[in-house]
Amino acid sequence: MTPFDVQTVRADFPILSRMVGDRPLVYLDNAATSQRPNQVIDAEADFYRLHNANAHRGLYMLGEEATELFEGARVKLAAFVGARAPENIIFTRGTTESMNLVAYGWARKFLKPGDEVLITEMEHHSNIVPWQMATQATGATLRYIPLTDDGLLDLSDLGSLLTERTKLLSVTGMSNALGTITPLALLIGAAHAVGALVAVDGAQMVPHLAVDVEALDVDFLAISGHKMLAPTASGGLYAKPEILEAMDPMFGGGEMIREVFHDHATWNTVPYKFEAGTMQIAQQVGLGAAIDYLNALGMDAVRAHELDITAYALRRLEDAGARIFGPMNAEDRGGAVSFWFKDVHPHDLATILNEDGVAIRAGHHCAQLVMRRYGVPATARASFYIYNTKEEVDALVDALARADGIFTL
Ligand code: PLP
Repeated sequence: MTPFDVQTVRADFPILSRMVGDRPLVYLDNAATSQRPNQVIDAEADFYRLHNANAHRGLYMLGEEATELFEGARVKLAAFVGARAPENIIFTRGTTESMNLVAYGWARKFLKPGDEVLITEMEHHSNIVPWQMATQATGATLRYIPLTDDGLLDLSDLGSLLTERTKLLSVTGMSNALGTITPLALLIGAAHAVGALVAVDGAQMVPHLAVDVEALDVDFLAISGHKMLAPTASGGLYAKPEILEAMDPMFGGGEMIREVFHDHATWNTVPYKFEAGTMQIAQQVGLGAAIDYLNALGMDAVRAHELDITAYALRRLEDAGARIFGPMNAEDRGGAVSFWFKDVHPHDLATILNEDGVAIRAGHHCAQLVMRRYGVPATARASFYIYNTKEEVDALVDALARADGIFTL
């Protein structure tokens, strides 16, 4: 693994040279959305400048170019997550749409009363609410794996939660609220042993860790482009081919059909039966460029950089008196670090930090079950990516010290 030069990386991101008042921007909200390098911005803009046409439709040069670029992005995304074939990737607007596609196309078709869906208390709302809706619609039951005090999944009762009644286990690979990396190999093995399928919310995992769906033997993987340098509304759903064949489409319309009659229609082949209407073509082309960028850095180097920054941030935040939620060992987590600082409300903290140019997130992070579990309404969250530096962690801690001064006056 060759480490990359962070300053060289930073030079590719025009937004990182912005000022906030007279302070340089310190962008620490990467778990919400990452920034984009010139390579991605150019790929999307060049699509519109040079190649724009609808994909899979035009029998003319631009139409063919658009199709080639769009399908090229599918090939890149499939390879990036270790999928055997590009057809195993459905393009979606991101993880929320991907999970809803599983909930509509698979769960509503196959779940029945008495069946169970097992999720965890660590999930983002996009991996909770679709299952509440699908179990309510089918008469199935939704169950939860609880959390330990230190922000891990509490697997002590897994044997009674995961049974032959469980038809689907849906779990995050990396928590956006706690940073926790979940033990996917163990969970997938245990779920398959009782005949359950496994869906993984990869919104936080795929941008930060090398992922291989074949090695994991995962059934579904939801992917968000906008958290991995790509345009908004890019991303996808990986699923095993036999599952995609069996699933129903979620949207009906153009392109997803083979033939339309007065009283029914037949479906196009996978993946197109899931891609109704005009897709987010330029955005997925941008995702292809983002994948090229991450591959050039190397995902092992991406992880190594984030481990280094996260370990440093955990140490500095703890020394500054912050209460950190989630694992304290950087090896067990990603770079989303949630904390409370000396009883300053996270919203006040984020507002004061903004005056120093430091952008963090404050709120429930779409993970209200996590907030309930730890008895807080919200947390402050700093989250790191490839372009963040230890100096930026220092800027965060300095800004916290200033906030402390304001609130102890
Ligand atoms: N799951 C997790 C763990 C997330 O962090 C997010 C976004 O914050 C989502 C799902 C939703 O992803 P998207 O914005 O791509 O729909």
